[in-house]
Amino acid sequence: MDKLKDMLKRIGIEPDEQKQRQFSGYRNAIIEWNKKVNLTAITNPDEFENKHFVESLIIADKQEFKEAEKIIDVGTGAGFPGVPLAICFPDKKFVLVDSLAKRLRIIEQIAGELQIGNVECRHGRAEDLGRQAGLRESFDLGVSRAVARLATLAELVLPLVMLGGSFAAFKANNSEEELIEAKAAIHKLGGTPLNTQRMLLPGDIESLPVYWFRKNRPTPKEFPRRAGIPSKKPIIK
Ligand code: SAH
Repeated sequence: MDKLKDMLKRIGIEPDEQKQRQFSGYRNAIIEWNKKVNLTAITNPDEFENKHFVESLIIADKQEFKEAEKIIDVGTGAGFPGVPLAICFPDKKFVLVDSLAKRLRIIEQIAGELQIGNVECRHGRAEDLGRQAGLRESFDLGVSRAVARLATLAELVLPLVMLGGSFAAFKANNSEEELIEAKAAIHKLGGTPLNTQRMLLPGDIESLPVYWFRKNRPTPKEFPRRAGIPSKKPIIK
């Protein structure tokens, strides 16, 4: 796990024994479970390290992340980007959300076994959780990777972010069009664009982009709409 160790140094994290045990334990457990339940398409250990661990950690350097105490990962899947961040920052609290209960229960069990004590798994559709008192507008930071196009994703994540908080969307290269398309949605949901983050990764490879938004107005009551609507009819004007 040399690339991961290099990455931890870049973000100022000491790769102590506990973190190394948690990272390798997590990777091994996911790859093992993946034989029975579909959790991830990536099962090559090196690729796993790069795409799942290193890429999840690129936001660690960002001021908005450093200041956040309560973070929600929407559509966490096999735990990304939430779990690697939780391993590195045990003082921050992470809520991992997914609509697939089976997947989420496995993540919860593995995190428990590895004593990753700062993650809480919440089963549900983000559209439903975003209307629940206690969850709505209660997180310093909302993060998400590979869940939906940005116009849809904004409606899943921004309602959960508190006023003054931020939203970080992990995206693919060449996603600028998505960003333009999402302008209306971001605005309607109470956000404004902050900037695009990229980081130089181990091996001097440029990371994928992360789009950052600030929540500076409350999300209007009508959002999020009913489960399924944000993806069927994204806000595009
Ligand atoms: N973030 C992970 C997984 C991406 S796959 C990664 O980058 O590796 C997308 C995940 O989002 C799936 O596990 C799916 O169940 C979940 N998902 C999709 N729509 C959702 C919604 N509306 N609410 C909650 N989870 C959702």
